[in-house]
Amino acid sequence: MENVADYKEIAELIEGAGGEAFRRCFQCGMCDVVCPWNRVRRFSMRKIVRQAAFGMTEIENEEIWRCTTCGRCPQRCPRDVRQIDSGMALRRIATEYGVFPENVRPVRGVSGNLSTQGNPFGEAREARGAWAEALGVRPFSEEMEILYFAGCYFSYDSRLKKVAAATAEILQRAGVEFGILGEAESCCGESIRKAGDEEVFKKLARQNIKAFIDRGVRRVLVSSPHCYHTFKNEYPEFMVHFEVVHMSQFLLDLIEQGRLELTREVPLKVTFHDPCYLGRHNGLYDEPREVLRRVPGVELVEMADNREDSLCCGGGGGRIWMDTPKGERFSDLRVAQALDAGARVLATSCPYCISNFEDSRLALKDDDALRVMDLTEIVREAL
Ligand code: SF4
Ligand code: SF4
Repeated sequence: MENVADYKEIAELIEGAGGEAFRRCFQCGMCDVVCPWNRVRRFSMRKIVRQAAFGMTEIENEEIWRCTTCGRCPQRCPRDVRQIDSGMALRRIATEYGVFPENVRPVRGVSGNLSTQGNPFGEAREARGAWAEALGVRPFSEEMEILYFAGCYFSYDSRLKKVAAATAEILQRAGVEFGILGEAESCCGESIRKAGDEEVFKKLARQNIKAFIDRGVRRVLVSSPHCYHTFKNEYPEFMVHFEVVHMSQFLLDLIEQGRLELTREVPLKVTFHDPCYLGRHNGLYDEPREVLRRVPGVELVEMADNREDSLCCGGGGGRIWMDTPKGERFSDLRVAQALDAGARVLATSCPYCISNFEDSRLALKDDDALRVMDLTEIVREAL
């Protein structure tokens, strides 16, 4: 396959985008050993790095869009090649040239929607806070304890709006003074950045930062590990610092401070799936498990791949917007692992994981064999 752009130009762009890191690679292949793609089909990050080191990347090739940014291979790479940053750089180049393979094309539409409406679905910005209207949730004001930043999926997706509602109910029961931004909230921008659209990421980040500063926000509570990651680790690039708390941390604090009492028995055998951006990228493994241990009646079991070795759901790095054919979905493997562990509930704490697991659950012969629940939904049953 021929490159659409001049090789020399691409080579220079790759060099400028982190060529040095690519050249540190000594082709040990450890990245390919741990990559979840190699459980469902052949895929080689080692080969992508090799080609990039020589400036030979075929930017129109689908392979550069495959990485879910799960964080497994950077964890194991002996040469600190930083495959995620390097892969992102290649996608940025492809985005600049407007080169998108067939199954990546939806990302163009997503970029447009994010740019105009602040969400990937193209839903009206004005409707962003509608999930909260009947729940008595107020707009955020400076004297409140914390801002609840629901994020796109929890604001608009019909399955995930139930999680936002459970969150609001828990916060109200614990007496937390909180508010939301409603239409002033924009997508955090984490996934579109990983999908190569740096300009849209910057635009979204600036919109959110302005909204936070204008309203005197100091602490932000998030349900999505992707919002958590980008607020905590990427927004500081704009010289701002907000305290960011993920719901799993906040729940544990509320329980430990005696603000939230879990009294009702919830007799469920539960396994917890570590979302990549909660676990591997940010080290939050114990908090969600500790919350589950505090729920009366819950029996916690572990799946084959857990904590640092958790199996990605397949939704990170913008893959949530790309089509993955049947037989290649990591979430199908994860649902099977949950059943093998004897769990009746696959719990997690991330909108992409829940969306992918719900799809995989529906594909089971007996879709009642397993429930997919957010941590907050289990806690709400215990109130
Ligand atoms: S693990 Fe690192 S050094 Fe080894 S092949 Fe992959 S990128 Fe290269
Ligand atoms: S970050 Fe994950 S999905 Fe991406 S290449 Fe590495 S192991 Fe594979």
